[in-house]
Amino acid sequence: MPNNKFKCKKCGECCYSPRLSKKDIKRIEKLGFKKEEFIEKDFRNFSYIKEINGYCMFLKRNKKASCKIYKARPTICRLYPSKLINNNCKAEKLASDKLFGK
Ligand code: SF4
Repeated sequence: MPNNKFKCKKCGECCYSPRLSKKDIKRIEKLGFKKEEFIEKDFRNFSYIKEINGYCMFLKRNKKASCKIYKARPTICRLYPSKLINNNCKAEKLASDKLFGK
């Protein structure tokens, strides 16, 4: 569930390589992107959006951050944040991500 009290400051700190479902991939493909342009797989064969300098390739960084594919953004981006850790916008990494240095 998204955190309804959260007020986004558009810092972009949450936008690191989100994991993609099949529906997310189809939505992004409909924008004209080919899978090989935006997907990278991990050792488990899970799909993520490619990173540029440690952040999602679709993150646009100006004074305020924005998403280049906002209307087609992945489900996990729509739900974020379910909770904030130490009031910090850094994305909530999964235990398995921490384990493998993601
Ligand atoms: S798809 Fe958009 S909202 Fe999701 S991480 Fe990338 S830039 Fe951020």
